[in-house]
Amino acid sequence: MASIFTKIINGEIPCYKVAENENFLAFLDINPNAKGHTLCIPKKEVDKIFDLDEETYMELMAFSRKVAKAIEKTVVCKRVGISVIGLEVPHVHVHLIPLNEMKDATFQHKVSLDQEEFVQIAEKINAALTE
Ligand code: 5GP
Repeated sequence: MASIFTKIINGEIPCYKVAENENFLAFLDINPNAKGHTLCIPKKEVDKIFDLDEETYMELMAFSRKVAKAIEKTVVCKRVGISVIGLEVPHVHVHLIPLNEMKDATFQHKVSLDQEEFVQIAEKINAALTE
Protein backbone atom coordinates (compact mmCIF):
# COMPACT_ATOMS: atom_id res chain seq x y z
CA MET A 1 0.00 0.00 0.00
CA ALA A 2 1.23 3.50 -0.82
CA SER A 3 2.57 5.48 2.13
CA ILE A 4 0.71 8.57 3.29
CA PHE A 5 3.57 10.61 1.83
CA THR A 6 3.23 8.93 -1.58
CA LYS A 7 -0.44 9.93 -1.43
CA ILE A 8 0.70 13.51 -0.76
CA ILE A 9 3.11 13.34 -3.73
CA ASN A 10 0.28 12.07 -5.93
CA GLY A 11 -2.05 14.83 -4.75
CA GLU A 12 -4.49 12.38 -3.15
CA ILE A 13 -3.91 14.03 0.24
CA PRO A 14 -3.36 17.80 0.50
CA CYS A 15 -0.26 19.41 1.96
CA TYR A 16 1.19 22.85 2.52
CA LYS A 17 3.87 22.66 -0.16
CA VAL A 18 7.16 24.47 0.39
CA ALA A 19 9.30 23.23 -2.52
CA GLU A 20 9.25 20.63 -5.24
CA ASN A 21 11.45 19.36 -8.03
CA GLU A 22 11.45 16.24 -10.17
CA ASN A 23 12.61 13.91 -7.41
CA PHE A 24 11.88 15.63 -4.06
CA LEU A 25 9.10 17.41 -2.21
CA ALA A 26 9.13 19.64 0.87
CA PHE A 27 5.96 20.38 2.82
CA LEU A 28 5.00 21.55 6.29
CA ASP A 29 4.65 18.96 9.04
CA ILE A 30 0.97 18.83 9.99
CA ASN A 31 1.78 18.51 13.72
CA PRO A 32 4.80 20.81 14.00
CA ASN A 33 7.32 21.06 16.80
CA ALA A 34 7.67 24.73 15.84
CA LYS A 35 6.28 27.10 13.23
CA GLY A 36 8.03 26.31 9.93
CA HIS A 37 8.72 22.64 10.74
CA THR A 38 9.16 21.14 7.29
CA LEU A 39 9.54 17.62 5.93
CA CYS A 40 11.72 16.89 2.88
CA ILE A 41 11.03 13.61 1.11
CA PRO A 42 12.21 11.72 -1.94
CA LYS A 43 9.39 10.93 -4.35
CA LYS A 44 10.81 7.43 -4.53
CA GLU A 45 9.11 5.51 -1.70
CA VAL A 46 11.77 3.95 0.52
CA ASP A 47 11.22 3.31 4.23
CA LYS A 48 14.61 3.92 5.84
CA ILE A 49 17.00 6.71 4.94
CA PHE A 50 20.14 4.62 4.88
CA ASP A 51 18.49 2.23 2.42
CA LEU A 52 18.33 5.00 -0.19
CA ASP A 53 20.78 4.65 -3.06
CA GLU A 54 23.72 6.94 -2.50
CA GLU A 55 22.81 9.40 -5.26
CA THR A 56 19.27 9.90 -3.94
CA TYR A 57 20.60 10.24 -0.38
CA MET A 58 23.08 12.94 -1.39
CA GLU A 59 20.48 14.78 -3.48
CA LEU A 60 17.97 14.64 -0.61
CA MET A 61 20.56 16.25 1.66
CA ALA A 62 21.30 18.97 -0.92
CA PHE A 63 17.56 19.61 -1.38
CA SER A 64 17.05 19.73 2.41
CA ARG A 65 19.95 22.16 2.78
CA LYS A 66 18.36 24.60 0.31
CA VAL A 67 15.03 24.39 2.11
CA ALA A 68 16.73 24.83 5.52
CA LYS A 69 18.44 28.02 4.29
CA ALA A 70 15.05 29.36 3.16
CA ILE A 71 13.50 28.47 6.55
CA GLU A 72 16.34 30.27 8.31
CA LYS A 73 15.61 33.42 6.29
CA THR A 74 11.89 33.21 7.04
CA VAL A 75 11.40 32.05 10.61
CA VAL A 76 12.85 33.71 13.69
CA CYS A 77 15.04 30.99 15.18
CA LYS A 78 18.51 30.38 16.51
CA ARG A 79 19.12 27.69 13.91
CA VAL A 80 17.39 25.05 11.85
CA GLY A 81 17.78 21.55 13.26
CA ILE A 82 17.72 18.38 11.19
CA SER A 83 16.34 15.08 12.35
CA VAL A 84 15.47 11.75 10.78
CA ILE A 85 13.21 9.41 12.71
CA GLY A 86 10.61 7.59 10.66
CA LEU A 87 8.91 5.63 13.43
CA GLU A 88 5.50 6.95 12.37
CA VAL A 89 5.66 7.17 8.58
CA PRO A 90 7.65 4.49 6.68
CA HIS A 91 8.69 6.82 3.86
CA VAL A 92 12.03 8.62 4.15
CA HIS A 93 11.63 12.16 5.47
CA VAL A 94 14.05 14.73 6.81
CA HIS A 95 12.61 16.94 9.55
CA LEU A 96 13.82 20.55 9.36
CA ILE A 97 12.89 22.27 12.59
CA PRO A 98 13.39 25.93 13.51
CA LEU A 99 14.99 25.78 16.95
CA ASN A 100 14.95 28.35 19.71
CA GLU A 101 15.04 26.04 22.70
CA MET A 102 15.91 22.39 23.27
CA LYS A 103 12.25 21.52 23.64
CA ASP A 104 11.70 22.40 19.97
CA ALA A 105 13.82 19.37 19.09
CA THR A 106 12.08 16.90 21.36
CA PHE A 107 8.90 16.02 19.42
CA GLN A 108 7.05 16.23 22.73
CA HIS A 109 6.22 19.91 22.53
CA LYS A 110 3.92 20.80 19.64
CA VAL A 111 2.53 24.09 18.37
CA SER A 112 -0.88 24.55 16.81
CA LEU A 113 -1.30 26.68 13.73
CA ASP A 114 -4.45 27.57 11.88
CA GLN A 115 -4.84 27.00 8.17
CA GLU A 116 -3.96 30.58 7.29
CA GLU A 117 -0.74 30.39 9.29
CA PHE A 118 0.24 27.18 7.52
CA VAL A 119 -0.48 28.73 4.11
CA GLN A 120 1.45 31.92 4.91
CA ILE A 121 4.55 30.23 6.29
CA ALA A 122 4.69 27.76 3.38
CA GLU A 123 4.44 30.65 0.91
CA LYS A 124 7.11 32.67 2.71
CA ILE A 125 9.59 29.79 2.84
CA ASN A 126 8.91 29.08 -0.82
CA ALA A 127 9.54 32.72 -1.73
CA ALA A 128 12.83 32.71 0.24
CA LEU A 129 14.10 29.80 -1.86
CA THR A 130 14.64 32.12 -4.78
CA GLU A 131 15.92 35.18 -2.89
P1 5GP B 1 8.32 10.21 12.13
O1 5GP B 1 7.90 9.13 11.16
O2 5GP B 1 9.60 10.86 11.72
O3 5GP B 1 8.33 9.72 13.55
O4 5GP B 1 7.22 11.34 12.11
C1 5GP B 1 6.37 11.55 11.00
C2 5GP B 1 6.00 13.03 10.92
O5 5GP B 1 5.09 13.18 9.85
C3 5GP B 1 5.32 13.58 12.18
O6 5GP B 1 6.02 14.74 12.61
C4 5GP B 1 3.90 13.90 11.72
O7 5GP B 1 3.36 15.06 12.31
C5 5GP B 1 4.05 14.05 10.23
N1 5GP B 1 2.86 13.63 9.48
C6 5GP B 1 2.18 12.46 9.64
N2 5GP B 1 1.16 12.40 8.76
C7 5GP B 1 1.19 13.55 8.06
C8 5GP B 1 0.37 14.08 7.01
O8 5GP B 1 -0.59 13.47 6.54
N3 5GP B 1 0.71 15.30 6.53
C9 5GP B 1 1.77 16.00 7.01
N4 5GP B 1 2.01 17.20 6.45
N5 5GP B 1 2.57 15.55 8.00
C10 5GP B 1 2.28 14.33 8.52
